[in-house]
Amino acid sequence: VRQQSDGNSGQAFIDEGEPEQLEEGLWRIPVPLPFALRSANIYLLADGPSDWTLVDAGLGLPADETALHSGLATAGIELEQITTIILTHAHPDHIGLSGPIHAASGAPIYMLSGEERTMYSVWGERAQAIAGELGAMYAAHGMEPEQVASSRQSPTRTRAILQLPPPSSIVTLEDGAELSIGKRVYQAIWTPGHSDRHLCLFRDDQLFIAGDHILPSITPNIGWYPHGRSDPLRDYFWGLERVRDLPARLVLPGHRLPFVGLAERVDELRLHHQERSRRIEALLSEALPGGRSAAGIAALLFGKRLRTSDDLRFALAESIAHLEYLRAEGQVVRDEQDGRICYFAVSPAVSAPGPRTHGGSAE
Ligand SMILES: [Zn+2]
Repeated sequence: VRQQSDGNSGQAFIDEGEPEQLEEGLWRIPVPLPFALRSANIYLLADGPSDWTLVDAGLGLPADETALHSGLATAGIELEQITTIILTHAHPDHIGLSGPIHAASGAPIYMLSGEERTMYSVWGERAQAIAGELGAMYAAHGMEPEQVASSRQSPTRTRAILQLPPPSSIVTLEDGAELSIGKRVYQAIWTPGHSDRHLCLFRDDQLFIAGDHILPSITPNIGWYPHGRSDPLRDYFWGLERVRDLPARLVLPGHRLPFVGLAERVDELRLHHQERSRRIEALLSEALPGGRSAAGIAALLFGKRLRTSDDLRFALAESIAHLEYLRAEGQVVRDEQDGRICYFAVSPAVSAPGPRTHGGSAE
């Protein structure tokens, strides 16, 4: 039985954890994650009689490896039969097993150009420096010192789990490139926002590989980071427009279950972020002499839903993304004093463009 239980993560375990054949030559193999997302999807697509394409690679935990192997056994496919590997983006829960999968199969690994540099710098040579930059950013935006200290441990822990491939295995794609595999052609679509060089793919039989750009029932995290692009929320709105009207017959998301109705989901995600921006404007319009920090905004927006220090960091990065978007729009100004950043509303009565009428927004 499939039940969606988002909003109470940790309560019910939904049955998204079983490998399943979605149609002839298309498998979804979920692998477990030790945080609220619960699992990440690996897809296997038959692109020709001897062409198996694998999309995304889990976090790299032993439990992921076990789940991948048992999923492959259920599908009757050997790792050695994989001829192409595609990574939608360089977040840890999508790249972790790419090393061993490449080692066993020899398959090239496709990424959108630029994302591979992020993968090897954030999870490689710059890991330590980036942990420091992130800590400084969290502190400047109002995070408590003990949370900042714990944030510095996180990249090291994650890095120890990842099993990355050698750089020579990576083949980069440009936006708009056509990738022919077996009998199929994939179009590469740059969809920034969730990550700077996030890749979606549209296969010529109307399958849409969404990565974490479009998820059902949960909203992809759109965060601002010092090493990233300057206005990720604006990027994200643009990326939503780019894919909205594709004639997708099935959407294959990086988490949760495949679904139909791409345009409707795009509209919900856009509305969700527009509403959140208006909420933030309203919170800033309540005149406070010192303005509000991004951490203060995050606490007001998410409150008790922030259970772990990971939650706190994601919520803060997402709040900054919204505040920086509003700042670029001219609705909000920023002030920095003694290394502390606060935001102020420009005018107390800002009227944002009216929302498109559309039902339900999801968290
Ligand atoms: Zn992601």
